[in-house]
Amino acid sequence: MDDRSALTQQIKAMALALGFDLVGITAPHPLAHADRYRTWFAQGFAGEMGYMTREVEKRVDPSRVLPGVRSIIVLGMNYHTAPELPQDARLRGWISEYAWGHDYHALLGKQLEALATFIRDVAGPEMQARWYVDTGPILERELAWRAGLGWPGKNTNLINRGLGSWLFLGVILLDRELLYDAPATAHCGTCTRCLDACPTGAFVGPGMLDARRCISYLTIELRGPIPRELRPLMGTHIFGCDICQAVCPWNRKAPVTSHAAFWPRAGYAAPELIPLLGLSEEDFRSQFRDSPIRRAKRRGFLRNVAVALGNLQDPRAIPALTAALRDPEPLIRSHVAWALGRIGGVAAQQALRAALASERDVEVREELRCALAELAGHDEADTTTPPYELRRSAVQACIHAGPDLSGNH
Ligand code: SF4
Ligand code: SF4
Repeated sequence: MDDRSALTQQIKAMALALGFDLVGITAPHPLAHADRYRTWFAQGFAGEMGYMTREVEKRVDPSRVLPGVRSIIVLGMNYHTAPELPQDARLRGWISEYAWGHDYHALLGKQLEALATFIRDVAGPEMQARWYVDTGPILERELAWRAGLGWPGKNTNLINRGLGSWLFLGVILLDRELLYDAPATAHCGTCTRCLDACPTGAFVGPGMLDARRCISYLTIELRGPIPRELRPLMGTHIFGCDICQAVCPWNRKAPVTSHAAFWPRAGYAAPELIPLLGLSEEDFRSQFRDSPIRRAKRRGFLRNVAVALGNLQDPRAIPALTAALRDPEPLIRSHVAWALGRIGGVAAQQALRAALASERDVEVREELRCALAELAGHDEADTTTPPYELRRSAVQACIHAGPDLSGNH
């Protein structure tokens, strides 16, 4: 056995011993789908994810990340769990499965660092290595495909035949040549389940996502208001969305993870929404200190909670939403106004009117006005116009009328 093959075997054995479920190695050639990536962000499909469009040349050419790179090790860790989910009548939201446990960046980072240290011990201290978990200018999915870990499905997730797509990925770039694995073959076939199931129509085509319509983007990456026309399509998702993975036949028999850190902590899998609406900045920081959810920040997270409550259209949420009309954050107040407009009824209408009398923020005033217009349209409903159509036309009229600046003293 030559040195290259001995080192490759040692690295793979250590990766598995450290708890990775998948390991493969690829050459550091520039990415074959660089043009597709450039087209994706040139079309604006990345939305506000400016970081995706920075350092493009590095992203498509790993030798610009680590000069002299000769091998890329790609590692996968299964995070799938199958907990008993609460079956009660409480108002609950949905958090994406990857965020149920502890923050994967820390866990995978620790294991990648341990593997890089091991390789340096074996290969010599002069060896150059860099590792990344989601944080560097690296397109992990294409590298994982090339390293044989799986194929990029039409839902844009990496799919492994044995483990499905509930996978965290990490990479290590090395200046040592190792034995490379063969790329994985694709097995989506004629299936289009993920494309058909997306509630917001975010897929422009197979494997091409307009992130601006994706619930994951809207609930995690988007910092400002969620477009009104998309809110009703978001259901009760308050952080991410698993629909296009959950429907994938390759996930039907996905095994559960052996990593206890990814099992859901209390209140993460299907949390009650009303208590979340009352979280202070300090509560939010302490509750989600060690969770990917902190990325949304309190203002984004509570904005999402308000949208979910609006979509549930359950009057039990009215007192908490009414209280949240006094939240210090205008982004939250404006989505709370929308939610009350969705729920409707006398109490919601009174709360909206009272808030409009004292609200000074221009955008919140506009949302309050739209919500009241929606309810007025609903109240005046005749039997020939479906309520949804009536609401839609009332809201459209309100939006087209432009912002109400009368509260801008
Ligand atoms: Fe659509 Fe949800 Fe998949 Fe986004 S994560 S593409 S919203 S199904
Ligand atoms: Fe591929 Fe079907 Fe899975 Fe979509 S649902 S990723 S098309 S196998």
